Amino acid sequence: MGAQMTLAGRAASATKGFVEVKDFALFYDTLDGAVEAVTGVSIHVDPGEFVSIIGPSGCGKSTLLNAVAGFLKPTGGTVTVDGEAVDGPSADRGMVFQQYSLFPWKTVRGNVEFGLKMKGKDRGSREPAARTLLGLAGLLQFENQYPERLSGGMKQRVGIVRALATGPKVLLLDEPFGALDAQTRVIMQQILTNMWQRLKISVLFVTHDIDEAIFLSDRVYCMTARPGTIKAEIMVPLERPRQPAMMMSSEFLALRRGLMSLIREESLKAMGGEISDGALEGLSINLHGQSLADVI
Ligand code: ADP
Repeated sequence: MGAQMTLAGRAASATKGFVEVKDFALFYDTLDGAVEAVTGVSIHVDPGEFVSIIGPSGCGKSTLLNAVAGFLKPTGGTVTVDGEAVDGPSADRGMVFQQYSLFPWKTVRGNVEFGLKMKGKDRGSREPAARTLLGLAGLLQFENQYPERLSGGMKQRVGIVRALATGPKVLLLDEPFGALDAQTRVIMQQILTNMWQRLKISVLFVTHDIDEAIFLSDRVYCMTARPGTIKAEIMVPLERPRQPAMMMSSEFLALRRGLMSLIREESLKAMGGEISDGALEGLSINLHGQSLADVI
């Protein structure tokens, strides 16, 4: 099948990795009482689909992702993968965090082979499988290096490859490129979508970067300020494979404008309603007729 595979074609070629979250709520117990982080959230990821969650800081994106990973139990609602309730972490759901979590005492290939060992692959087949995966991420020439010798982008590539080595049906990523510079970020995005298309797995990706969400995804869920709910669901009908030049297309820019205004509204709310658009535009403070020098 060609690289310009349609969305329907891609979804149909993957049969596993259907994530369904229904009426999800999560409250954190704290000394000051319950913190209502997320409430009434229903989302899904079709098999083979790439879905992002975007929203202002603190709206509950990581909470939702951690519940799909099985690290957090819902206070209300259900989380299922292929119809089975998520009950703790599993190799079926690979997770990649923003901070690099490689074993420093293992080489690049050793880190990936660890993932394969977790999957139950026998010793003899681990090395060729690790080399194939590293090749997909353009990392083969670094297979014998230790993580401390790698750049941030390379470490994160190894992290993604290691998460993929356990053979997950769903890959969950929490701001994985947040610590990288803009150029590296775009290249990482292309590497990730390339691997995703070849492996035909489902992806749920958390970010607060609007361009990143549009560039990567088939669909984007936009969340409200805390307690997080789903404010909007946006389809991204851009063709695949995505190229950086598409970010300048009128289609991309229209999606960007729409998402920006949705997120901005929620970010202002998340700042406690103290800053309004009007106040930001004029940077005006009502001094009730006094000069600033009188006031300070
Ligand atoms: P996001 O990923 O969108 O930035 P999070 O899911 O990390 O948001 O957090 C959602 C809300 O829950 C935030 O207000 C955060 O302060 C709160 N929160 C997260 N973890 C905890 C915790 N362990 N205990 C109490 N409150 C928490």
